[in-house]
Amino acid sequence: MIWNPQYECQGIEERKLLQLARLKNLVENLYSRVSFYHAKFDAAGVGPRDLGSLESLAAFPFTVKDDLRTTYPYGLLACPLPEIEEIHMSSGTTGVPVVDAYTRFDVECWEEAMARTLSGAGATRHDTVQNCYGYGLFTGGLGAHYGAKRIGANIIPMSSGNTAKQLMVMRDFGSTILACTPSYALYMAEEARESGFDFKAKKLRAGCFGAEPWSEAMRKQIEAAWGIDAYDIYGLTEVTGPGVAFECECKDGMHVNEDLFYPEIIDPATGKSLPDGEKGELVLTTLVKEGTPLLRYRTRDITSISRGRCVCGRTTAKIHRLYGRTDDLLIIRGVNVFPSQIEHALIEIEGADPNYAIIVDRSATYLDEVELMVEVRRELFSDETKTLETLRSKIEAVMKSKLGISLKVKLVEPKTIERSMGKAKRVIDKRSI
Ligand SMILES: [Zn+2]
Repeated sequence: MIWNPQYECQGIEERKLLQLARLKNLVENLYSRVSFYHAKFDAAGVGPRDLGSLESLAAFPFTVKDDLRTTYPYGLLACPLPEIEEIHMSSGTTGVPVVDAYTRFDVECWEEAMARTLSGAGATRHDTVQNCYGYGLFTGGLGAHYGAKRIGANIIPMSSGNTAKQLMVMRDFGSTILACTPSYALYMAEEARESGFDFKAKKLRAGCFGAEPWSEAMRKQIEAAWGIDAYDIYGLTEVTGPGVAFECECKDGMHVNEDLFYPEIIDPATGKSLPDGEKGELVLTTLVKEGTPLLRYRTRDITSISRGRCVCGRTTAKIHRLYGRTDDLLIIRGVNVFPSQIEHALIEIEGADPNYAIIVDRSATYLDEVELMVEVRRELFSDETKTLETLRSKIEAVMKSKLGISLKVKLVEPKTIERSMGKAKRVIDKRSI
């Protein structure tokens, strides 16, 4: 189901022309309307006249998260305040929040992007969408809400939390599409199993899961637990929210809404552009945003890009499911470790669940010490202690060979590790560096 063939299946050369025209317009607007960008362009020695081709964008400066913080609250506004219709904000866990402001046109584009996203998962006006993304300043809730509204589906605005009620609603209202974080989808499945939920009677057939990186193995778990198709979706508050990219029925990468967002992949260390297929940091430019447009925003998400006509018929570029984040990268005793590597390794070990937490601390001898808490099936605890000990050593050995570092493994009973209703927190870094 393709929501907007005109843009999603557009000829690639034709799309490039559209992108260039939109980029030129954007750069002119930023230069004349946003003093922050005016100064930034001047400092880099570039201006609107330097944008002759899509490739020449690489000469323009990046925008980084700190820029969004130092300009809080309205420093990046590119239109008069009365034109702003809605404002969203990041959770601001590390201090000053990041603001995203939308005009009426911006909200309409967001609805359009999310209508395409839900359609990618097969949603139509005949569906009932149970939206468990948090409503409020977080972009997940309203983003999914707007998309479902645009396609004319029946939408149940549950917001996050209250799992017992979520399950009751799913059963009684016959929800067909679930929208939430992947970790919450698994958590709900666990609660459903324990409370005797009748999986055979449910109407649920697909889910749109995002707002946190997840693995292919986790997709299989969600699909098996619920008996549904699980689709990956991508977006971030700084750049409108969800709706930047989404999976089609092929489930092998997310189509970028390229008429609205211009993607680039760079080497996070040097800032140089990388060719298609290479893994690097995703950089996004908003092509039509009026409220708070961003040029070359460094997302810190690690992915790769591929192009060409997809089996589904779309011609938009696809980004690979996220490999991790540049800022999630743990450097332990000089070795780079992504939490996703730990998750991948755990999934292959019989008896261990991919529910884990990594606790990093620095000992009196200034060595990094890592403890990996892993949940294991409850029945293992009633077995002989030898079984547990064997499993523990096995996990330690696998981690040592896959990550190249030694860590202490502690096995705990299911549900010991705190589950978030939103994003799963996997890393607890106690080091003060
Ligand atoms: Zn496709």
